[in-house]
Amino acid sequence: MKILVAVKRVIDPNVKVRVKTDGTGVETANVKMAMNPFDEIAVEEAIRIREAGSAEEIVAVSIGAPQVQETIRTALAMGADRGIHVASDEDIQPLAAAKLLKAVIEKEQPGLVILGKQAIDDDSGQTGQMLAGLLGWSQATFASKIVLGDGEAEITREVDGGLETIAVKLPVVVTTDLRLNEPRYASLPNIMKAKKKPIDQMAPADLGVDVTPRLKLLKVVEPPKRQAGIKVDSAAELVDKLKNEAKVI
Ligand code: AMP
Repeated sequence: MKILVAVKRVIDPNVKVRVKTDGTGVETANVKMAMNPFDEIAVEEAIRIREAGSAEEIVAVSIGAPQVQETIRTALAMGADRGIHVASDEDIQPLAAAKLLKAVIEKEQPGLVILGKQAIDDDSGQTGQMLAGLLGWSQATFASKIVLGDGEAEITREVDGGLETIAVKLPVVVTTDLRLNEPRYASLPNIMKAKKKPIDQMAPADLGVDVTPRLKLLKVVEPPKRQAGIKVDSAAELVDKLKNEAKVI
């Protein structure tokens, strides 16, 4: 079986994001970028499945500007076998990403597709669901455990009340949650080896997909500054303040 993972380049989660002064977005110039953390989990899971003998090949796909090839190289250094770069300088929104991934999947015919549950830049959490819908495939979102069987998979999902385990037929689109695994660091020899692994390039037009944005960004603003808290000396004072100052009880 072949596994396809989608990896997005986002602002490094350890960087404090700054809003542009003109409110048109967030500052990305000279800002450290990294693979979306949920996508690292997706790559790690694919590698573990291959190490367990249930898959032969892992293909990492990223959509975006030329720099996303660095993100594909990171996936290759972790252990993916080859990459696909869908080159576009447009702002790729979830529906466009899902359509492009669908076209790549139709060419590649993987049995399992793993995405992050959300990209930490737009926090949309939509691409996996749209992709499964467009393909007409099973979907298992927010996965914290994947057990592959013969032509099907048992997937444990993180839901509001706890965990839910479902059985799905393959092929399936899975989106990863935090507890699925802890991604490995790429070793230096593997970083060197990754430089030789192939990355195919294609354009949205080659895949017959129109990536024109459907959503219009009106404005980006900083969240309001939090007021400093206060310390109270006793439970009675706390109750008094909640009742008479905050007026919440
Ligand atoms: P989102 O729906 O934007 O929160 O993204 C969810 C997941 O879709 C991400 O974790 C990625 O696995 C995948 N994805 C979204 N956009 C891209 C992109 N431009 N390139 C590769 N994967 C993407």
